Amino acid sequence: MSQTSEHHKCVIIGSGPAGYTAAIYAARADMKPVLYQGMEPGGQLMLTTDVDNFPGYPKGINGAQMMSDLKEQAERFETDVRDGWVTKVDFSKTPHTLTIGENEKTLTADTVIISTGASAKWLGLESEIRLRDAGGGVSACAVCDGFFYKGMDVAIVGAGDSAAEEATYLAKLCNKVYMLVRKDHFRASKAMQHRVNATENIEVLFNTETKEVLGKEAVEGVRVINTKTNEEKDLPISGFFVAIGHKPNTDLFKEYLELDQTGYIINKPGTSKTNVEGVFVAGDAADHVYRQAITAAGTGCMAALDAERYLASKGLH
Ligand code: NDP
Repeated sequence: MSQTSEHHKCVIIGSGPAGYTAAIYAARADMKPVLYQGMEPGGQLMLTTDVDNFPGYPKGINGAQMMSDLKEQAERFETDVRDGWVTKVDFSKTPHTLTIGENEKTLTADTVIISTGASAKWLGLESEIRLRDAGGGVSACAVCDGFFYKGMDVAIVGAGDSAAEEATYLAKLCNKVYMLVRKDHFRASKAMQHRVNATENIEVLFNTETKEVLGKEAVEGVRVINTKTNEEKDLPISGFFVAIGHKPNTDLFKEYLELDQTGYIINKPGTSKTNVEGVFVAGDAADHVYRQAITAAGTGCMAALDAERYLASKGLH
């Protein structure tokens, strides 16, 4: 049996840079936010090793440490950070209703900030996941991690716009980039294909699937198979990038919110507003283009400011 016992001005769903930044702003505006950390506290940055591109950390920072710092900062202003995840929402009327856990508790909220992020898709190979989790050179973000492979040889899997864009990004830093494409053609736009083909140090291997990422503690190579000839070969590389798409964590909201074809929440341009009053979105749940910690943090700030203005306009704050 669920029980409604709590009402809040602001509930934030998700604990990546977007959620915590929204919490810091909302808490400082005295909105007394409650933040549910979700299934993967800290979000995608928990899978990164060093973050060198977040302003303010001249020596870089470990991803997990950065998330712990953001949490501490949000709690300093008395954000109520809670374990648990939201399993159901009802945005059909105000205040909005959220169910936590398996019908464990029901809350109402005047504003909801969605910062549930997106999850990178992985191939699912044991060697890939093991080296990813060990921080051993497997990454789903070239912009975040490409720098660590300066002057080295790397491989990237995927044939869409992301893979093409990330391959050309890596090609500027790395000695050589193998692009592993499972079909005999790209999915990427013609313009992106042209950029790949015009980059000398990218070698595209069509009809190529990954069998295994080689290396015990760090990537030393990749074993690939040509699906037309069944020929296997090992490519010596130091970094293995996966760019086969992301899945925004938005299934929970599809009944109420406008989503694009892939499931990203559609926000009103230049704002964090969704199509439902009092419901705001920040970070990768609405962003398939930039997907950076700093852009997530920026939109988290926007969401808190938009939520505060909404509350004020309704005489609720
Ligand atoms: P997409 O879904 O467009 O492409 C995913 C790619 O990964 C496909 O080529 C697919 O291969 C491949 N793939 C999927 N699973 C596997 C697997 N198990 N093994 C090997 N390859 C696999 O994702 P993107 O992230 O590239 O793009 C998402 C959206 O964002 C798109 O709409 C894209 O246009 C957009 N985007 C736009 C950019 C821009 O305009 N600058 C930049 C980046 C993204 P297959 O083709 O064989 O199915």
